[in-house]
Amino acid sequence: METSDVIVIGAGFAGLTAARELSRSGYGTILLEAKDRIAGRTHLDERLGRNLELGGTWVHWTQPYVWAEMGRYGIKALAGPEFTKAFWTVGGQRHEGTAESLLELLDGPNRMLLADSRRYFPMPWAPLENPDIADIDQLTLAEAIDQLGLPEDQRQLLRSFWTLNFNGRLDQAAYTQALRWCAVASGDWQLMFEACASFKIDGGTRRLAQAILDDSTAQLRLNQVVASIVQDGERVLVTTKAGKQYSARQLVLAIPLSTLNDIDVQPAFSPGKREAAARGQAGRGAKLWVKVEGHQERFVAFGPEAAALNFVQAEYIDQETTTLVCFGPDAGAVDTADVRAAQQHIDALVPGLKVLEVAGHNWVADEYARSTWPMHYTGFLTRYLAELQQPEGRIRLAGSDIANGWGGFIDGAIESGLDAARQTASALGNDAGLHLKARVAAV
Ligand SMILES: Cc1cc2nc3c(=O)[nH]c(=O)nc-3n(C[C@H](O)[C@H](O)[C@H](O)COP(=O)(O)OP(=O)(O)OC[C@H]3O[C@@H](n4cnc5c(N)ncnc54)[C@H](O)[C@@H]3O)c2cc1C
Repeated sequence: METSDVIVIGAGFAGLTAARELSRSGYGTILLEAKDRIAGRTHLDERLGRNLELGGTWVHWTQPYVWAEMGRYGIKALAGPEFTKAFWTVGGQRHEGTAESLLELLDGPNRMLLADSRRYFPMPWAPLENPDIADIDQLTLAEAIDQLGLPEDQRQLLRSFWTLNFNGRLDQAAYTQALRWCAVASGDWQLMFEACASFKIDGGTRRLAQAILDDSTAQLRLNQVVASIVQDGERVLVTTKAGKQYSARQLVLAIPLSTLNDIDVQPAFSPGKREAAARGQAGRGAKLWVKVEGHQERFVAFGPEAAALNFVQAEYIDQETTTLVCFGPDAGAVDTADVRAAQQHIDALVPGLKVLEVAGHNWVADEYARSTWPMHYTGFLTRYLAELQQPEGRIRLAGSDIANGWGGFIDGAIESGLDAARQTASALGNDAGLHLKARVAAV
């Protein structure tokens, strides 16, 4: 059995950050990861002849935690393409125009939908501060949009836009989560949209994850699928699926919320934590990379919200080919290896493109993710967030799922990892103080 001061489970951005902070503070730290790589729901991989982000990608200076980490390691942001052309399909009809004309169409409806974002979230990093959120936390985004009384075309376009943002269906998606996103972007929906899809990390997410790991003295153990955690008054004992055991005084559990109940924890977590994990997150969609023939114009396209792919964007435009990044609300409806199916999905949105190759990763089928970016169902905020942030004895949860600010983003993962590390260090300090007192008393 390996022993240490602290064990961190999960080497996504939350776990990597927590492990760096704790190990740099002088605590012996073991970092356990189920996969054969770090970085969790971000994954820069060589596909379609270039480095493609299969998971989390975009960052922004309004996201303070990830921006500070990039600055710390001298990593710059790269601007994505400026779009010139847009397609959008509403009421069964495809429309074509400039990217500005599409933004204008989305502007009024989004302003109406998000007008109260700062009223409900006056301090966006303290999302539970205003008790009034309880009045609207059961409202679905579908209901909130439908209540605006928009003309049918605008309603459909707005629903497709938010289906993209949730990477999932809107019928159980929390309206409060949309308001939170907008509030952390100072109540400006266009800034929010820019933050979500404009700037990438130079060298990719892998480079930032590796920089955090390199800056840490934690012992990384890959291919360690944690199966059970048992804690008593003194220690925490972790057992992997393969039967290897690790023990420590404190533990940070930085795995996706939707996978939490896969680990047998004794004593069991509170009913609230288990219920939240069983419900999981609303982000259950697809991200697909599609290489098409020809040097295409810089375009974006929205389809109907229920389309297999409801959003397409021309991301890399080369001399002879163009690589598109596409999203859809249901991972089950998109085969990440099927070129013919991708051709049909693309034909429904954009005319005249010939699909050559596709690539992607099904994060919902991935047993160590079970979801894409963490977007909340109704009631998550008021019923579960505070509960999930509460420690269970020697165990603290961390992750983008339970962040206070940009929950659902890389930024939220780093914020939560820092928070868990600070609390864990304080608990380790208390432990040390108690042991010292006991030793002094014994002498
Ligand atoms: C398709 C997609 C697109 C996205 N786009 C963006 C974006 O553009 N910008 C942005 O900021 N964010 C984006 N995100 C979200 C962002 O990637 C995540 O919010 C963030 O990376 C989550 O980090 P985390 O550390 O909380 O969790 P994770 O990255 O999920 O890390 C958890 C780790 O725990 C490990 N684990 C799970 N179970 C076990 C076990 N039993 N034992 C040991 N280890 C285990 C997992 O393998 C994983 O490495 C996107 C995500 C996806 C999937």
